[in-house]
Amino acid sequence: MATDNLPIQTQIPLAPKTTIGIGGPARYYLEATTEEMVTAGIQWAAKKNLPFFLLGGGSNLLLADEGFPGLVIALCMRGRKETHTGDHVILDIAAGEDWDDLVAFTVARNLAGIECLSGIPGKAGAAPIQNIGAYGQEIADTLVDVRVLDLTSMETQVLTRRACRFGYRDSLFKQEGKGRYVVLSLRLQLTPDGKPTIRYPDLERRLGPDASLAEVRETVLAVRRGKSMVADPTDPNARSCGSFFTNPILDASAYAAFKARLPQFGLSEHPNYPGGPGKTKLSAAWLIERSGFGKGLVYKGVGLSQKHCLALINRGQGTATEALELVARIQKGVMERFGVQLEPEPVILK
Ligand SMILES: Cc1cc2nc3c(=O)[nH]c(=O)nc-3n(C[C@H](O)[C@H](O)[C@H](O)COP(=O)(O)OP(=O)(O)OC[C@H]3O[C@@H](n4cnc5c(N)ncnc54)[C@H](O)[C@@H]3O)c2cc1C
Repeated sequence: MATDNLPIQTQIPLAPKTTIGIGGPARYYLEATTEEMVTAGIQWAAKKNLPFFLLGGGSNLLLADEGFPGLVIALCMRGRKETHTGDHVILDIAAGEDWDDLVAFTVARNLAGIECLSGIPGKAGAAPIQNIGAYGQEIADTLVDVRVLDLTSMETQVLTRRACRFGYRDSLFKQEGKGRYVVLSLRLQLTPDGKPTIRYPDLERRLGPDASLAEVRETVLAVRRGKSMVADPTDPNARSCGSFFTNPILDASAYAAFKARLPQFGLSEHPNYPGGPGKTKLSAAWLIERSGFGKGLVYKGVGLSQKHCLALINRGQGTATEALELVARIQKGVMERFGVQLEPEPVILK
């Protein structure tokens, strides 16, 4: 596709395109509805010696107040294809499909595999980037492969689930492959009339063992709404990027050091989960709250959700600078008290 014919816009405000509502304008902005437009957009930026940035649904992003000085390419390619193979259905999904519409579609078709991932905002193409997960499922459980544009060769290739190196909120795309790939589409393997996954305490408490996929979806959505963890422009506690920090995973010696600090604060019991061989996962929310950063905390134009101290919210006129100040304070507070480094989950463009 000729780069001259691209419908590139200028000075487009980015804040409304993010769930937290923060960020200055994109100097140039392209809504790419086809894969050819994505490639042409990247070539256009290269010709002009400008950086480019890939935008999905803007739900895991903290953009700079100054905006983005190059080309923002919004990935809007749509399409779903269904293939039946033996006991499974393979869904081939374009990157620009809305994630939760996709989950609703699979549940309506009685296809098991992603029902617990109901209510996660964003687009399908971003789902493998941080291996989205919630309520006992993650996309790595059902993902077959991802078709990508490799920016080093400008050719498309298919990366198997194994090649994606999924971990907890982690993948190749956040590690050695960072900045190298555009996810164009992905394939999921789902089970027709399969049993839903009910292994998360919040779901086990509310559902019987024979619950349907639709009941699981409704329950997940209800639990998420209760915590303001669905994208809802009318809910001030949902003006966020979701959880702002990942749950830290400590090796045995760091965990022992953490536990040794607890008695001086009158603490002993603490939530902890297996974090892989020899490792322990802690609750970031617990650490934050016990370090004095409670639900509803206000800091200038930003703050913490009244429902969930892991969600950093924009209280209306908040800025990225203020958000990053609060992030730094929380990280420092948790480090000083517990000796644990909290890592942000969203992508931060400074
Ligand atoms: C209220 C709320 C609740 C949330 N709950 C959860 C949850 O339960 N579990 C969870 O895992 N996450 C959760 N999130 C985080 C977020 O929804 C997910 O990470 C989601 O997958 C981000 O998708 P997006 O399209 O909005 O990506 P964006 O925010 O637009 O982009 C995120 C990053 O991915 C890159 N990217 C986007 N699309 C592509 C692509 N096609 N190819 C290459 N790179 C790409 C972007 O450049 C950026 O670096 C929540 C967020 C909010 C606001």
